Amino acid sequence: MKNLFLILLLATTAFAQRTVIHANKLFDAKSGHTLTNQYIVIEGDKIVSVSGTAPTSADNTIDLPNVLPGLIDVHTHLTGDPFHFGYAELSISTAQEALNGAVNAKTTLEAGFTTVRNLGAGGYSDIALRDTINSGALPGPRIDASGPPLGITGGHCDNNLLPFEYHVQADGVADGIAAVQAKVRQNIKYGADVIKVCASGGVLSKGDDPQASQYTLEELKAIAADAHRLGRKVAAHAHGKQAIIWASEAGIDSVEHASYIDDEAIAVLKKNGTYMVPTTYLSDWMMENMAKIGFPEIYRQKMLDVSAVADRNVAHAMMSGVKTAFGTDAAVYPHGLNAHQLAKFVKYGLTPAQALQTATVNAADLLGWSSRIGSIEPGKLADIIATDADATQDITATEHVQFVMKGGVIYKNEYK
Ligand SMILES: [Zn+2]
Repeated sequence: MKNLFLILLLATTAFAQRTVIHANKLFDAKSGHTLTNQYIVIEGDKIVSVSGTAPTSADNTIDLPNVLPGLIDVHTHLTGDPFHFGYAELSISTAQEALNGAVNAKTTLEAGFTTVRNLGAGGYSDIALRDTINSGALPGPRIDASGPPLGITGGHCDNNLLPFEYHVQADGVADGIAAVQAKVRQNIKYGADVIKVCASGGVLSKGDDPQASQYTLEELKAIAADAHRLGRKVAAHAHGKQAIIWASEAGIDSVEHASYIDDEAIAVLKKNGTYMVPTTYLSDWMMENMAKIGFPEIYRQKMLDVSAVADRNVAHAMMSGVKTAFGTDAAVYPHGLNAHQLAKFVKYGLTPAQALQTATVNAADLLGWSSRIGSIEPGKLADIIATDADATQDITATEHVQFVMKGGVIYKNEYK
């Protein structure tokens, strides 16, 4: 038995496919510099070396112009789409959500996003999607999945569309310390990698106020403490200033949206090392397409109010040194357009290289996956993309990804 194992091991090693990528330019996400004429050697799903010297042997050599690490989006909803908001959302079953997720996962991967953090889905459809992608049966990014987001009764993450007699409540609703602890544990029981919590009101929900805090500081602390003890990070949806501050003080790892962040909140996030994940491109897309998609009237004023201030506030926070990770809220606009958020970051004042770092090394750090993804280095997973133009010169090059490799497997190659 032992011998058989040894033979199998030797056989796998001997036949591991050795692919070499010759990169005309290579973005070094750690330093933010661009290297030229680099050879990336890949065996199985991992990068084994990166150097300026051509390796002597390879099964397969691929020449690519501008090479980057696979991009990471830390805020998606792969099972959702911008065409079923409001009452239309009630017609989508959990099974339908999962199938939509399969379609959207492929689109997202082909856009160059090899990893996403999916922050909220019904009925654990995101967990099913993650597991099917991991089995190799479906193309898609690797997913850090939350399951249903925790929220208060009547809050942003509840479902408030129907009157009382229908008794509709979203999967993640929990009120009070004991109930939020139970919900964290339930999500972990059914496969959650990360906990999502709605700390403030939101835009796409009926009857709540984006600026109002929803959970109390004590509830947020209980959620963070339980999740962390069980080895999970926590992401908090928070538009309002108080919710941003409370999420950070509770020890939550990232504040999503952060639309009403101000100097006081900036100081708290910096003190605690909390990540901010601004998702502002969605407003640009929405302003252009509201009429076309039949945007629900019940949400319109909130969308206008938040859009009017979010750009200025998050730009100020970013340029004041708040740690930023790249996220989009894709689902509020069509999947696959994720990279458009990078151009917003450059508009706010980041260099293109710094913007790329938010979607590579920073995002990997927020996920706790820095040893596996986020840069092209020996020992890391071979998540590699390529573009025609140099994204460190023109960030919009990331909107046209021509080559996608995830874990050593090529999912898209326009250079053949
Ligand atoms: Zn979201």
